[in-house]
Amino acid sequence: MRRIFIKDVLQEHIIITGSDAHHLGRVMRAKAGDHIVVADDMGKVAECEITGFTENTVELKLLQELEERTESPVEITLVQCLPKGDKLELITQKATELGINSIVPVISANCVVKYDSKKAKAKQDKWQKIANEAGKQCGRSQLPEVQPVQTLKQWLENNAGDAALALCMCYENEEQQGIKEFLKANTDKKRFAIVIGPEGGFSLEEAELARSLGIASVSLGTRILRAETAAIAAMTIVQYEIGDLGGR
Ligand code: SAH
Repeated sequence: MRRIFIKDVLQEHIIITGSDAHHLGRVMRAKAGDHIVVADDMGKVAECEITGFTENTVELKLLQELEERTESPVEITLVQCLPKGDKLELITQKATELGINSIVPVISANCVVKYDSKKAKAKQDKWQKIANEAGKQCGRSQLPEVQPVQTLKQWLENNAGDAALALCMCYENEEQQGIKEFLKANTDKKRFAIVIGPEGGFSLEEAELARSLGIASVSLGTRILRAETAAIAAMTIVQYEIGDLGGR
């Protein structure tokens, strides 16, 4: 069944407006009587019937709430240093399929790409669109949020003090602690954030900053993975160890 996400709360009768209405009527060519799946802002999902159209709206009637369990029991944020080219598009798509909740694109010392604020906003919109598409395709009931581009330093300083957040930096030079060990020590946590570097890796200053903020440095194993592989592997590992990737 076709799926839409609404920035609203599900109720008996729903009126869809704006681009969602346009998408349903013009792009998806939905007709009165069609059944669609509607996911709301709170992660609730229902089967609805299209009961009518006007020029700019689509009216829906709620038929039955659906007990979907496509959201992970843990909330995961990927803090990704901007990689070259369009690699963040691939990372966003795959991370969405893997069930993560938030992507923070960050600028670090070894990032090669440079965006001015207009370009950064356009990129954020594009990544959000990719996350939305991927979320629809894989049956998510809540879409991940792509946050504005910011600096790694700023994000780390703002979030390191969050005691309820299990936060680690995947560091290519880490030889002591593996990600497995880190996750096993944090099974009581409900929120995770994983930081991944750009192609050039982290600078010594960044590794030092993370250490001084008390952020765990973890290894993904003995091979050096490309940034996109590291991001996808790390998301998979967290979902497998703590989340819902092992099957239910
Ligand atoms: N140019 C660097 C590698 C960067 S890999 C070098 O040659 O050392 C890009 C990012 O992927 C890294 O910053 C890190 O976040 C992650 N990564 C890749 N392999 C990793 C590993 N074995 N352990 C931990 N993180 C890794």
